[in-house]
Amino acid sequence: MSERFVVVGAGTMGLGIAYVAAGAGHAVELVEVDPDRGAAAATRLGELWDRAVGRGKLTAEQAAANRTRVTLRAALAEVAPGPDVVVEAVPERLDLKRAVLRDAEALDPALLGSNTSSIAIGELAAGLARPDRFVGLHFFNPVWAMALLEVVVGSATAEETTAAAVALAGRLGKDPVVVRDMPGFATSRLGVTLGLEAIRMVADGVASPADIDKAMVLGYRHPVGPLELTDLVGLDVRLDIARTLQAAYGDRFAPPPLLAEMVAAGRLGKKSGQGFYHWEDGVKAVRPAVADGGSSR
Ligand code: NAD
Repeated sequence: MSERFVVVGAGTMGLGIAYVAAGAGHAVELVEVDPDRGAAAATRLGELWDRAVGRGKLTAEQAAANRTRVTLRAALAEVAPGPDVVVEAVPERLDLKRAVLRDAEALDPALLGSNTSSIAIGELAAGLARPDRFVGLHFFNPVWAMALLEVVVGSATAEETTAAAVALAGRLGKDPVVVRDMPGFATSRLGVTLGLEAIRMVADGVASPADIDKAMVLGYRHPVGPLELTDLVGLDVRLDIARTLQAAYGDRFAPPPLLAEMVAAGRLGKKSGQGFYHWEDGVKAVRPAVADGGSSR
């Protein structure tokens, strides 16, 4: 059954969620306030469908059908009321998310979800008229490749809402875990711990980013090292998450100065072409960026 999906924010995650929802046959309205980001998302979605056809994962007809299911919108005010699902995927800032969620709730969706990586669902729900219909829907990057959906249950989330979120995971081809509402949930709290410590190790000169990553890949069987993962997530996103977790749990999550410096310098990882590695056309280049003198540390 085709549902009406609204995804708010067409960044790294929003476009991935839109891609997966369209691929599952749903009509998707992708809301992006920044026209440049909206145009970039449209281009990137086109590339993803072309690549899927090139790799034989979709026929040209299927890709064309998926393409027609996604409509870009410049504001939530352009969306008609009564969608089945709204997923908020704007930057990890409490005030911004609360404002977007209030506007999204005014559309009266059956299910309202936030893709927050770290902010407690109870915090985000403040100001919502129907917090019972609100739940954390934490997808992983890249959304089309990652099986997990972390369903975060706030104290006001209704049991039917949790059940609907778990069912939604199945319809999108995702495998859910249901998690109690604590900042950082079951994933970011652990994953960010590793990433922040790896950044401190770069600053301490323990080893190059490539060797720290290689150590975790070969020594611990991680599919990707913590610094490359930080580049893929976005250093700005990780910084926001670290600040949220620092506020919740104290200075063990204090962002390392190197992370803040790199973000201030615009070295955001894959999306800006520079992070702990160089990225060319979305592909990691051989030389690590930080180790070749590109950073202040
Ligand atoms: P991003 O910065 O790539 O994209 C956010 C987008 O939201 C931007 O394009 C921005 O212009 C847009 N936006 C801002 N205000 C808006 C508004 N009022 N209406 C519509 N669009 C608006 O960020 P991202 O990496 O996609 O992260 C989004 C959320 O997903 C964050 O909460 C983040 O913590 C979470 N998340 C990120 C990752 C990751 O790997 N990047 C993984 C899981 C969850």
